[in-house]
Amino acid sequence: MRDAALLGLHQATPAEGFIVDAVSTADSRRRTARDFALIGRVWAEVGAGRITEAYIVDAETMGTDGYYNGSGRITINPAHQVVDTVIHECLHRAFPHWTERYVRRTTTQLRNKMNDHEIRAMYEEDQRRKRKRKRPLQLGD
Ligand SMILES: [Zn+2]
Repeated sequence: MRDAALLGLHQATPAEGFIVDAVSTADSRRRTARDFALIGRVWAEVGAGRITEAYIVDAETMGTDGYYNGSGRITINPAHQVVDTVIHECLHRAFPHWTERYVRRTTTQLRNKMNDHEIRAMYEEDQRRKRKRKRPLQLGD
């Protein structure tokens, strides 16, 4: 799933020296009874487990983010989503004067030119180097 709309809200706050990319947290989004029912169903599936995280190598398709094997086992590959975000935020840090639109376009161009080996290598390097914060990073307010 690579939905640009999910990038949604973007806030540039040069005065504070950082740039934020985020989905909107507005609670006012309208959800129908069907939406709630489906979300509940997805929660039940998550609760049922049998979800494995692994890098997925697909000879036919680049950028496979997830796979259902048809008999209960789901495999999730976070690498492409993470690498997209890593590239995007690294471009902001490297080129703070670039516009959001230009960063998005360049991120897509770079990602589309990376092969599976390069994506996996960048993901694994990020996983080795990343710090994991226990508390959420609270923005806004
Ligand atoms: Zn951005």
